[in-house]
Amino acid sequence: MRAEIIAVGTELLLGQIVNTNAQYLSRGLAELGIDVYYQTVVGDNKERLMHAIGIARGRADLLVFTGGLGPTLDDLTRDALAEYLGRGIELHEPSMDKIMKMFAGRGGAFIESNRRQALLIEGATPLRNDTGLAVGNALSADGTHYLLLPGPPREMKPMFDNDGSAWLKERLGQSFALHSVMLKFAGIGESGLEDLLIDLIREQQDPTIAPYAKEGEVAIRVSTKATDAEEAARKLEGTLNAIRGRTSAYLYAEEDLTLEATVVRELTRRQLTLTLAESCTGGLVSELITTIPGSAVVYLGGIVTYSNAMKMRQLGVPEALLEGLDAPGAISAETAVAMAEGMRAVADSDFALSITGNAGPAAAEEKPVGLVYVGLAERGRETRVEKLQLSGDREGIRLRAAKRALYMLWQ
Ligand code: ATP
Ligand code: MG
Repeated sequence: MRAEIIAVGTELLLGQIVNTNAQYLSRGLAELGIDVYYQTVVGDNKERLMHAIGIARGRADLLVFTGGLGPTLDDLTRDALAEYLGRGIELHEPSMDKIMKMFAGRGGAFIESNRRQALLIEGATPLRNDTGLAVGNALSADGTHYLLLPGPPREMKPMFDNDGSAWLKERLGQSFALHSVMLKFAGIGESGLEDLLIDLIREQQDPTIAPYAKEGEVAIRVSTKATDAEEAARKLEGTLNAIRGRTSAYLYAEEDLTLEATVVRELTRRQLTLTLAESCTGGLVSELITTIPGSAVVYLGGIVTYSNAMKMRQLGVPEALLEGLDAPGAISAETAVAMAEGMRAVADSDFALSITGNAGPAAAEEKPVGLVYVGLAERGRETRVEKLQLSGDREGIRLRAAKRALYMLWQ
């Protein structure tokens, strides 16, 4: 099955919002083994929408729309497709009931335009919307399949993942679905990882090996098409083992899990606690950790000590390390150790991580941009420190420093 994604919305064309739905749908369709050949963006205009449908029909047999299912007059996707196919539009009673109930529950008067959100193109299958009001539409006509999904990602994603995918799987029948395993790595960059696996990547056919890098993390997706999970596992095993063998020092998860989530999970399992003393990351590690639900069990808290005065006052870093001509300075292994040990002493945690460095853009203490020290104090063990020379802009260096600190803890 060849698919085209049609994202509808003038805001997309004006650059006011990013077309994240297309990305989500492309990935989701690939996982179902459906090849996406085109992504189109079209404004809230019926004529142009019908024109786009005509073009897409000529080159794809599945058209997935997102946007324009709402109550307002600029929400035209359903109308445009119905008119294109010469079909009528009917009311889907259960959706209408749900909308009426919602209004009754809120105690507000019913607004007539909301009726539009319960409309189905004649002959379409309704797709449940658990997070909003607009009902999705799925239909097949003259050998082409159509999926109409809402624009707001929090409605579109569950609708696609649940009813939308189920409907597509029925259309696909017995054909192959894409099965994949996500491998996540830390402590190594994208090119470093590629270097370790270069021959595997070059010679890949089935399974395929696709590297990803985002937000300071590197991942590889190993995929194959198979009729069921067992066959997929058999086909993936050899490649997975080869990758595992070469990357065990960096491979921290075999699922799509962030490093911070892995760290929180591991600390929880081992019933250990963590504190943080951050300088150049300014609380970023704390932010990453506290984004994970349940982190309160393991994360006691942290202190952002940006100035020397705060490093001394809050963490007891000796003045001799920070000030004076021959002092190692704030950006030094000695200070990273003192920060981590000072933090652990304050909170009596099992671990304390410290981060101090220069995120740029200018040199500080005559030390180069990207020079970062990470300290790790652990109950009953000697404090370790790692010197990093990171590259990138200020934001990139801070993020990489935060991830490297978490990596040190994970090790
Ligand atoms: P609503 O009921 O909110 O009107 P709708 O199905 O009519 O939903 P739109 O009006 O096209 O959808 O878009 C509503 C909002 O959903 C947009 O303002 C935007 O925030 C988000 N959105 C729409 N399309 C996309 C997209 N392709 N990618 C990411 N977000 C989107
Ligand atoms: Mg709308």
